[in-house]
Amino acid sequence: MLMKDILGMTKTELRELAVSMGESAFRGEQLYGWMMKGREIADMKNLPASFKEKLAENAEYRLPSILEKYVSAKDGTVKYLMELTDGECVECVLMKYDHGTTLCVSSQAGCRMGCSFCASTLRGKTRDLTASEILGQVLVAARDSGDRVDGVVMMGIGEPFDNYDNTVKFLRLVSAEGGPGIGLRHISVSTCGLVDGIKRLAGEGLPVTLSISLHAYNDDVRSSLMPINRKWCIAELMDACRYYFDTTGRRISFEYTLIAGENDSAEGAEALGRLLRKEMGDRPCHVNLILLNPVKETGLTAPGRQNSEKFCRVLEKCGINATIRRRLGGDIDASCGQLRLRRLDDGKGDNM
Ligand code: SAH
Repeated sequence: MLMKDILGMTKTELRELAVSMGESAFRGEQLYGWMMKGREIADMKNLPASFKEKLAENAEYRLPSILEKYVSAKDGTVKYLMELTDGECVECVLMKYDHGTTLCVSSQAGCRMGCSFCASTLRGKTRDLTASEILGQVLVAARDSGDRVDGVVMMGIGEPFDNYDNTVKFLRLVSAEGGPGIGLRHISVSTCGLVDGIKRLAGEGLPVTLSISLHAYNDDVRSSLMPINRKWCIAELMDACRYYFDTTGRRISFEYTLIAGENDSAEGAEALGRLLRKEMGDRPCHVNLILLNPVKETGLTAPGRQNSEKFCRVLEKCGINATIRRRLGGDIDASCGQLRLRRLDDGKGDNM
């Protein structure tokens, strides 16, 4: 018999499961409550032994385990390397802002999108994460830190829309009533530009913020940095963004990683401003400028502070809302994907 992934079940499904195991539906609710606290079955004190035994026989419930943990001395950011049941590992990062605590989660082990500046994609994708593995990161980080997680960003390792069904299932689980309690309006899903995924998400009735990893002001630059642009060019991407906003009413946020000599010129900023004005019209949008986290394998570097500020000012002159994102966890090697890569280099799972 197939083991049931109970962490991927809704409260209603768990009530039914309990009944199918000869217990009262209420036991299913208690089980749900414990899992949402990230607790192991052995610790679920008020569950009868009979139910726990049946769960041990028929259910699969393994939360990710923390392999490594780094705490930034500067700003309290915590970076976790978490191991999944089959030994694969992913990263997630807990960031503390004035307005609350946000967790950045991974959606895949590795990534196959091939962006030239990103550490997560250097070894390709190993596999998709299940919805419960994505949720597990939230539960374990919350339990470990003792913090309430107020928001989630899907900006860790992986491309959420390359794992569409599990991403949407995760969004429903993490925002479920009586669950981890994270409002959809406090969730951002980031994509390198899978146009079919953007359009599908618009129809799911999930009012999350869409973040587009744009990183370029024209197709030549974008195609040289991001292979996905050869499948869907900027005009097609912008068409999907308009559709997303017009359908959901949710503001779009554009991520723009500044890379010295590649996409950071003042003329580039002007071209970006013109592009967004023309394509987005008067729809609200925001550009998050990010200084490249250097990844040694790529040889790319970040521009200096002055250049970045100039880029930001030029965009604002074009009437585009822009901010330079504060760099959290700078002292704990925050560039996404680096921890996992280092672990692969230690020999574990290194078969390339
Ligand atoms: N695949 C999704 C989710 C990853 S989000 C996406 O592409 O949006 C991670 C964000 O960090 C993306 O905007 C990504 O382009 C950006 N990024 C990747 N490598 C980076 C680096 N070395 N420095 C700064 N930003 C980086």
